Amino acid sequence: MNDPTQLVNTLRQAATDAGFSQFGITPAVPITGYSDLVAWIDSGYAGEMGYFANRQQAYAHPNSVLEGTKSIIALAYPYDSAEAAPCSNGMGRIAKYIWSGVDYHDIIHPKLKQLCKLITQQSPESKARGVVDTAPLMEREIAQQAGLGWQGKNTLLLNKHQGSYFFLACILSNVELPCDETHNTEHCGTCQACLDACPTDAFPAPGVLDASRCISYLTIEHRSPIPASLREGMGHWLFGCDICQEVCPWNRKPTREANRQHEQAAHTTEVDEAKPLRFDQLDLASLFELDDEQFRQRFRKTPLWRARRRGVLRNAAIVLGNQKHRSSIPALRRGLEDPEALVRGASAWALGCIGDEAAGPQLTLCLDHEQDPEVTEEITLALSKLKTNQ
Ligand code: SF4
Ligand code: SF4
Repeated sequence: MNDPTQLVNTLRQAATDAGFSQFGITPAVPITGYSDLVAWIDSGYAGEMGYFANRQQAYAHPNSVLEGTKSIIALAYPYDSAEAAPCSNGMGRIAKYIWSGVDYHDIIHPKLKQLCKLITQQSPESKARGVVDTAPLMEREIAQQAGLGWQGKNTLLLNKHQGSYFFLACILSNVELPCDETHNTEHCGTCQACLDACPTDAFPAPGVLDASRCISYLTIEHRSPIPASLREGMGHWLFGCDICQEVCPWNRKPTREANRQHEQAAHTTEVDEAKPLRFDQLDLASLFELDDEQFRQRFRKTPLWRARRRGVLRNAAIVLGNQKHRSSIPALRRGLEDPEALVRGASAWALGCIGDEAAGPQLTLCLDHEQDPEVTEEITLALSKLKTNQ
């Protein structure tokens, strides 16, 4: 087997060539933040993401991801962090990490595989496994242990030079590699811009996220109706939310520009071949014209597919309700007739928010034949809002 230092140099160079902007190594030890994770799950902050509780034990040690792990390489992969254009009526905002329209797993996994190959070529006994959000691993804690940055009050990993607009990935290996220093300092200081800016009060304390209140979770992971008390806070967000990153001083312009250039240089070739159009906003009314198959064709290969048609249309209806623009009424009427109860309920809510009495007759008609109790309740509430506004 090669000298471990030489192997690390080879891996570091290969990672840079593949577009990773940060690289650090930590020994595989019990995860220090594990008890915080358990407390977080017990508090119900994971919302409907049952996989955290189901795999809770596995997060305690990297051995549950790869038996015999001795070292973990932590990597950062930057994504587009340009300033978002203002959102006009009828449009819905999409979080920056999705702007490429490509699922980041599809970009990063092949790169991790290549790096793993460099390790396993060393000897028949060596093993390596790449993880990007795909195994029970506390990637942020590991990245901090490997020296990549600190965990900000917005819970994200922050780096002084690169802010937070990057994905984290790890490579676990049973090869013992020379390790980097843990990042022991934190640089949020007295700032609490992220805590103040969150529109749904998703931070019960600095550094603790109640995902069940977070727009990112609600618009992507949450499968049920979005709680009525959180809908207004969603504002223009159709899919994901960047607010607690946008306000962070560590994501100031030069950092964003550096990330963008790095990211573009890194995967221009392979992404361009199959890349759909870049999207940072979507026209919401047009989404209501897509049936299941049309939606599949348009979004199957994009991150929006995770929420499926019903989740995306639910979000679209809520954004249209928040924008309160009469021109959205035809799309929402169509939403009222949608086969999915989730979409019908959100559309009824949105029509109530717009408050135009022209929507009244159709709401009443739908109430007569609606079978779903939750949708019935939404329609009744919408009708009473219309009456109040008259
Ligand atoms: S992503 Fe948005 S909703 Fe979630 S914590 Fe940050 S600011 Fe709040
Ligand atoms: S906005 Fe301020 S408090 Fe929040 S993560 Fe950034 S530096 Fe820390």
